[in-house]
Amino acid sequence: STAKPESYKSTCSYCGVGCGIIVNKDNKGRTTVEGDPNHPVNRGMLCSKGMNLHYVVEDKSDRLQYPQMRWGKSHPLERVDWDTGLDRAAAVFKSIIKKHGPDAVAFYVSGQCLTEEYYLVNKLTKGYLKTNNIDTNSRLCMSSAVMGYIKTLGEDSVPIAYEDIELADCFLVAGANPAWCHPILWRRVEKHKEENPDTKIIVVDPRVTQSCSLADLHLQLNPGTDETLYLAIGRCLIENGDIDMDFIQNHSDGFEAYKELVMETSLESAAATCGVPEEDIKLAASYIGDAKGFLSLWAMGLNQSAEGVNKNLALIDLNLITGHIGKPGSGPFSLTGQPNAMGGREVGGMATLLASHRNLLNPEHREEVADFWGVDSLPDQPGKTATQIFEGLEDGSIKALWIICTNPLVSMPDARRVEAAMKKAKFVVVQDISAKAEAIPYADLVLPAAGWGEKEGTMTNSERRISYLNKFTDAPGEALPDAEILLRFAKKMNYSGFDFDSMEEVYAEYCQLTKGTNIDISGLDYDYLKSNGTVQWPFTDKSKGGTARLFTDRKFYTPNGRAQILANGPKNQTELPSDDYPLILTTGRIRDQWHTMTRTGKVAKLNKHIPSPFLEIHPKDAASRNIKDGQTVLISGKRGEVRVHAQVTDKIKKGVVFLPMHWGKILQSDFSRTNNLTGNGIDPVSKQPDFKFSTVQVAKY
Ligand code: SF4
Repeated sequence: STAKPESYKSTCSYCGVGCGIIVNKDNKGRTTVEGDPNHPVNRGMLCSKGMNLHYVVEDKSDRLQYPQMRWGKSHPLERVDWDTGLDRAAAVFKSIIKKHGPDAVAFYVSGQCLTEEYYLVNKLTKGYLKTNNIDTNSRLCMSSAVMGYIKTLGEDSVPIAYEDIELADCFLVAGANPAWCHPILWRRVEKHKEENPDTKIIVVDPRVTQSCSLADLHLQLNPGTDETLYLAIGRCLIENGDIDMDFIQNHSDGFEAYKELVMETSLESAAATCGVPEEDIKLAASYIGDAKGFLSLWAMGLNQSAEGVNKNLALIDLNLITGHIGKPGSGPFSLTGQPNAMGGREVGGMATLLASHRNLLNPEHREEVADFWGVDSLPDQPGKTATQIFEGLEDGSIKALWIICTNPLVSMPDARRVEAAMKKAKFVVVQDISAKAEAIPYADLVLPAAGWGEKEGTMTNSERRISYLNKFTDAPGEALPDAEILLRFAKKMNYSGFDFDSMEEVYAEYCQLTKGTNIDISGLDYDYLKSNGTVQWPFTDKSKGGTARLFTDRKFYTPNGRAQILANGPKNQTELPSDDYPLILTTGRIRDQWHTMTRTGKVAKLNKHIPSPFLEIHPKDAASRNIKDGQTVLISGKRGEVRVHAQVTDKIKKGVVFLPMHWGKILQSDFSRTNNLTGNGIDPVSKQPDFKFSTVQVAKY
């Protein structure tokens, strides 16, 4: 049969850049995708991952198609209908809560959930189940940046717009490889540099990455020494007089203490700690000092650290002392990993947050949200964060866990410990699109979810830009949108606040909850997004439109309206190299794969770029271990082992090795899972785990 060709607008479901996509369906219903030429983010461009999204949509071979349940831990999973599955989930949740209290259950969700889904699961857990045990894999990604923004600017608010890229003349790219991980955003930086060759680009990374090929200066620092480096750059800026005294005096607090701290460490000593030449630190400072527009870009190299918040503070300080914020081409600019980590943060999608940037610890804020939801009160203590949820399973304080759209047995640090913890759970629900989700063998109930293009909703990208995603195809079998599953579960629990007929109604409710806050989008609705395209929040009124840049009036969201220049000084790492484990392991992404590969791993074209996991090791470290390029090596650490082939390269520092994060047990083998090796260090403030500093030994296998 033939149908009319159709085309739909959507947004890429991978990284936080948020590229606009046009999905075309031909008269046989076949799907192709192209970059939206009129989209303000990507102007028609797509990277390799986005370009191949239609293969992921069309290949249903690995998709979960119907609910499955086991009646006891030793029983096999068997097909059930939706009512049977959700009746059981409701009965188990009710009985656990009755016997052990609401904090004995938890939800672990994802920065890939749509805003409506995120909103509903938060309302369900915080408002109705009465626990704040709802955390997300954004804890592994952005929570240190969230705390960095809250502490310095008063709220979790990315101040810049992508249009600042074309207005900047100095970029500091810290702990990020945007050429591979945020490619379309990087294309814009490349083009800007091409047209304005005087633009300076500084890359800070222990590895020579693809992003370094555009850099004027690569500071190849020792892992974990970022804070020392940014404080040293701060010292140079002060000594050179390249600071903005008007901003410091009239719009910020904390400069004197900051100055005292940076002056404590000589440049010589900082250079030795960081393993970079003193002259290069001075050069970086002179690039920043000369800039009219200065953007600092960062990602996991800073966030995924036991000192992630302090690293964020030290970097944001460089924008504050130079007054490079709230003006064109300037500002701190965290690069979001996931497509809707921002939307999730906005609806309060973490154990430590409340909707619309309200403060979970503030009784008035809790009351506002409770009143809005029509419930008596909200739980007043922060819930368990990602790693704490699995510790809760381990120590028995959490009995039931509901996992949505994330693959913790590949992505969590110390994955073998997570496996052992999962075995102790009384009841596990796994809600996913893929039969390759590695938690399925541990699940008592498996719920098939609809994927990208099979449901509608909204997302927010790295520059606060909200977009509407169309549904353009049906989910396979009995799979349902995540929001629909949550609504059905809420009905089984007899909860009253979930009487929504559409996602549009869910979104309308959330928009009203933002009214009067700093992220007010009470003027926004689906109709506006569908007919006008994307908008940046705040968006209070259709006649005013969105907001490109925050803090142009230099009034911050802190109680006294002033930005806070804060620095704590570097602390020791949680684990230091030893005779047994002399090498530092750092981890990261590769260009053509996304997270745990349940989607990109299906695309033959994407697997060609780098077909199997590998270890980057410096030639001297390889030679002293008699390791040749391409040979299989055994990487061992305190918590486990990994076996992959060696890539001997001087692109990595001596003493440091690198593993990509993507491969897990199901796609390769138990011995290819990088998180067998990573540790349990977390940032004390953000609770974000450290994936960038574990100690290992490497030997020929
Ligand atoms: Fe998708 Fe990110 Fe690539 Fe854009 S840059 S196409 S959002 S993966």
